[in-house]
Amino acid sequence: MNKPVKFVTDGKLYVPTAEELGFDPAQMRRRYDAERDKRLRPDATTQYQDIDGDLKHYNDDPYITAKIERAPVVEDIEVAILGAGFGGMLMAARLQEAGIRSFRIIERAGDFGGTWYWNRYPGAQCDVESYTYLPLLEETGYMPKEKYSFGPEIYEHAQRIGRHYDLYPRAYFQTQVREMRWDEAASRWVVTTDRGDTFRAHHVVVSSGSLNRPKLPGLPGLRNFKGHTFHTSRWDYAYTGGSSEGNLDKLGDKRVGIIGTGATGIQCIPHLGKAAGHLYVFQRTPSSVDERRNSPTDPNWFKSQKPGWQRERNYNFACLLAGIPVEKDLVNDGWTELFKSLSELLDGTGAAHLTTEEIKQLGEILDYQHGNRVRARVDAAVKDPATAEALKAWYRPWCKRPTFNDEYLPTFSRPNVTLVDTGGKGVERVTEKGLVVNGVEYELDCLIFATGFEVSRATYTHQAELEIYGRDGVKLGQHWSRGMRTYHGMLSHGFPNCFHMGFTQTGYSPNFTDMLDQQAAHIAAVLADANAQGIKSLEAKKQAEDDWVALVNSPNQMTEYLANCTPGYYNAEGTSKGNEGFLQGHYPEGGVPFYRMLAQWRAKGDHEGLTVR
Ligand code: NDP
Repeated sequence: MNKPVKFVTDGKLYVPTAEELGFDPAQMRRRYDAERDKRLRPDATTQYQDIDGDLKHYNDDPYITAKIERAPVVEDIEVAILGAGFGGMLMAARLQEAGIRSFRIIERAGDFGGTWYWNRYPGAQCDVESYTYLPLLEETGYMPKEKYSFGPEIYEHAQRIGRHYDLYPRAYFQTQVREMRWDEAASRWVVTTDRGDTFRAHHVVVSSGSLNRPKLPGLPGLRNFKGHTFHTSRWDYAYTGGSSEGNLDKLGDKRVGIIGTGATGIQCIPHLGKAAGHLYVFQRTPSSVDERRNSPTDPNWFKSQKPGWQRERNYNFACLLAGIPVEKDLVNDGWTELFKSLSELLDGTGAAHLTTEEIKQLGEILDYQHGNRVRARVDAAVKDPATAEALKAWYRPWCKRPTFNDEYLPTFSRPNVTLVDTGGKGVERVTEKGLVVNGVEYELDCLIFATGFEVSRATYTHQAELEIYGRDGVKLGQHWSRGMRTYHGMLSHGFPNCFHMGFTQTGYSPNFTDMLDQQAAHIAAVLADANAQGIKSLEAKKQAEDDWVALVNSPNQMTEYLANCTPGYYNAEGTSKGNEGFLQGHYPEGGVPFYRMLAQWRAKGDHEGLTVR
């Protein structure tokens, strides 16, 4: 248990003793290490099952009500945008603002929305507050209903942006890009689709998402299950009944099993618990589940915001999350609390006398205190002590996605809900009738996979489901066979005028939409400038790319942290020693310094690191 502790004595920072803390940090570290060790497995990132071949149906789109019938198109355009999620939409919006109107958006799904198009599972909600996460609020004049928006509101907002920027006439939905080839003589990308379309585009922006392709655990017998089954990002409401809001009225007589207790599982399990005849939750690693603290938006507060407020709020949030001191925490929630505590301690309390080791020690203590507080929530919410014990997370906050939910833990006190804790080992195998854990078979009518998305096991082109051929027909998959290679996370050597938007090799912030907007604004400015100067092509120089890859892959403060973490996709299932894993391979100083660096690069105007033709 945590005791109230003073970290400052005589105006100086001080590392408290075990007695003062009420727990022994060394003992805590041993417990965290032991929990990690029992989850490490030799097959690491290869433990998952690809959804190709006879498992392909897990990737089908269950939301399309009618197939769009249209003839193939052949078009010459300025920019082809691949992906109609917030990244692609922000790119389109920023291009328009920069005066570039000849663009098309090509998207496999049936509408705008990206992750929010696909993830319609009951209870889907964004953990990042709506006033920062929902893009273009000032531009569209929309006031979010609550501090934390649910999926349907976010999905509707994507459509609002589509209408506001008149993007629908320039979007091709239910269309998958199959291939892109660079035509050197014409300085054009030839983009072909599964609808027989050919777009000849001066530039291409690939914003196909980083968590888009569902993954399944590679369980023996996976194909044997005779009941109903689907992945959470392709929710089958025809089977469950209800909607994103819950009321899954067709499950009343069903035995439902769900594998996965990550950020998605946490949100849909309360709805399954309410509706299912019986729900079995198969847990390998518990999530850390903190309070949600949601509240309706105060219209007076919202109206009182001055023009430019959203940019300022995003900047404030991004600063806090990059450890940059700000006068006031405008967002003031679970994310900023996690980031603030150490920087507040270090700020202005004469921390200069502390060694790096002592600062690390303090960070660790604060993490343990956070863990103790979150674990105490489990005891308060779950009646059965053994179930409560199994639901406690024993790892540091950034080892896995922190979650926030008020209904999840109480679900386990329902008589129709059973937690099947696998002791960190995972489900053993699948049978015709259900799942086996510790030799016990659990019979199920329906098996739901809340098992996340391909990240580290997939090659880039596999994940994006397309092939990109650059100069001399070199495949991007080949160029990136030993990891992503870019300059600024956007351009690659040998692939002129092909910009990537996303997560890896850029400056990271947990607010994805702000990150994507910063990239979109940068690319739009670069293209507008290139047009003004009559530049035909922009391409990363080999040396610039090599240097950038070395920079983003150099060990940073997260490297050691993640190496000691319980396995997950953040640390390549516990194998990450350097750049492997989702949270590795970023601009070392974080989001805000990255945005500043890009602004300085643009201001210099010499296209440093690029070959310009
Ligand atoms: P995750 O990859 O985070 O979670 C997958 C879950 O499946 C884990 O609990 C994992 O256990 C479990 N699992 C995998 N294999 C097995 C097995 N063999 N047996 C038992 N359990 C297994 O996927 P999510 O869909 O939950 O989340 C993905 C990401 O999407 C999040 O990290 C977040 O970035 C984003 N997201 C964001 C939300 C938001 O609010 N903004 C909401 C939902 C998702 P283990 O931990 O042991 O590997």
